[in-house]
Amino acid sequence: MIRTRFAPSPTGFLHIGGVRTALFSWAFARKNKGSFVLRIEDTDLERSTPESVKAILDGMHWVGLDYDEGPFYQTQRFDRYKAVIRQLLDAGHAYLCYCSREELEALRAGQEERGEKPRYDRRWRPEEGKVLPPPPAGVEPVVRFRTPLSGVVAWEDAVKGRIEISNEELDDLIIARPDGSPTYNFCVVVDDWDMQITHVIRGDDHVNNTPRQINILQALGAPLPVYGHLPMILNADGQKMSKRRDAVSVVDYAERGILPEALLNYLARLGWGHGDDELFDMAQFVEWFDLDAVSSSPSRFDGEKLLWLNAQYLKSASLDRLAGLVAPRLAAAGIDTAAGPALGEVIALLRERVQDLNALALECDYFYRRRTPDEAEVAKHLGDESRARMARFAERLAALDDWSAASIHELFKPFCSEEGIKMGLLGMPLRILVCGTAHTPSVDAVLALIGKQQVLERMAAFGS
Ligand code: GLU
Repeated sequence: MIRTRFAPSPTGFLHIGGVRTALFSWAFARKNKGSFVLRIEDTDLERSTPESVKAILDGMHWVGLDYDEGPFYQTQRFDRYKAVIRQLLDAGHAYLCYCSREELEALRAGQEERGEKPRYDRRWRPEEGKVLPPPPAGVEPVVRFRTPLSGVVAWEDAVKGRIEISNEELDDLIIARPDGSPTYNFCVVVDDWDMQITHVIRGDDHVNNTPRQINILQALGAPLPVYGHLPMILNADGQKMSKRRDAVSVVDYAERGILPEALLNYLARLGWGHGDDELFDMAQFVEWFDLDAVSSSPSRFDGEKLLWLNAQYLKSASLDRLAGLVAPRLAAAGIDTAAGPALGEVIALLRERVQDLNALALECDYFYRRRTPDEAEVAKHLGDESRARMARFAERLAALDDWSAASIHELFKPFCSEEGIKMGLLGMPLRILVCGTAHTPSVDAVLALIGKQQVLERMAAFGS
C-alpha cells in the first residue's frame, strides 16, 4: 500500500512550489491506489500561525487536492514524540547534553578562528571508558541524537538517483530542546514512521535533512521510506522565486483569475513531462505520472504558458461557473449586473478573447454600462458625418421588432450600400457609441445582448 504525504509548515502562505510538491505526492498516491496524508508541521510555535494553517487548508481546497487522512497537527503529538525520545535515550541512541549556550558559542568561535567547520564536539556523548562530568546544577539539558561516527548514509533517490553522505559530515543533532520540546527533523521522522509513509516526496531543500532522518529511523528500527526530492522552481530569470519579486502564493493566482485546474495542469508540467503533451486534466495526469519521469534539474516558471493554459480552460469551463467567478469581480468594480444581460451569455461571447478571469471581468463591463471612450477613438471614428449616419442607423434599430443578432445583422448590408460605405464605417463608430470601445466581438451579437432600450439610450445620450 503506497502512502505519501504533504507536510507544509504553516509559517506564511501556501507556496506555489508547495502546491507542486503536494500535486506530485497526491498523484503518486492516486496512481498507485494508495493514500495521501496531509500533515501540518506546526512545531515552530513562534512562526506557526492559525491564519497560515487556514491558508494551507483553503489553498488545498481551492486547487482541489483531496487528502485521505489528516490534517494531522504535530503540536497534537507531543506526547508521542516524548515517548520516542525516551525510547532513544533508553536504548543509548540519544544522550543528554548540558552544554550552555555560552559554552557552545565559545566552541564555535574557536572553531571558526581555526578555520574549522563549526560543529558540536560531542563532549557529553557517552563512550566506553569516557568519564563525563557531573551534570551542572540548574541547567536543563538538550537531547542529542548519537549519530554514527563513521560510514555513509546512502539512498536511491527516486528523482535524483543515488545520494551518499558520510556520517562524518553530520553532527549529533538536537532532538529535544531544554524545555523538552522536540525539534523539526525528529518530528518528521516519528510522523513518517507512525503514518507509515512509503514515499517521501518533497522539495530538494530537504536533501540535507534526509541522512539525519534516515539515521534516526534506523536507530528506531523503523522501515525506510523511498525519498524523492523535487528540484526547485525558479522564476523566469532563473532566480529562486521570492515573495518580493514573484507571485508565489496560491492566493496570488486565484486573485489573478487563474483557474485551479489550469494551475495544476501547469504545475504538473513543471519538472515532469509526458512527451509534448501540454493540456491534460488530473485524471490523465494521474494515469501518466511516475517519479522516474521527474526531472532532476530545476524548472523555470513561465507565466505566459500558464496564461495560455488558463485560456484553454476558460474556453471549456461551464458558463455558470465562470459567471460565479466573474460576478464578484464586477461587483468589486461597482458594476451591477442585475439590470443587464445574463452574465453567462456575456461570458460566452467574450471568453475566447481573454486569458484570465480578471481580463474577462474587464471585458464584461460595457455590457452593463458604457465605457468612457478614448478621445482618440472618438476623433477617429465619430466625426460629424459619422454621427449623422449613426443617428440614421439608430432609427433602423428603433424600428426593429425582433431584437436578435440575426435581425440586427440583416440591417447592415442594405444600410451600408445606401450610405455607400464599407462595414467598418458602420461597425466601429457603432461600437464606440454603444460600448465606449472599438474592441468588441461581433457587433450584432453585442448589441443583441445589451438590449434594444439600452442600445438606443446609449446612442442617443452620446456626446450629450
Ligand atoms: N515542513 C517542511 C516544509 O514545509 C516539509 C517537510 C517534509 O516534507 O519532510 O518545508
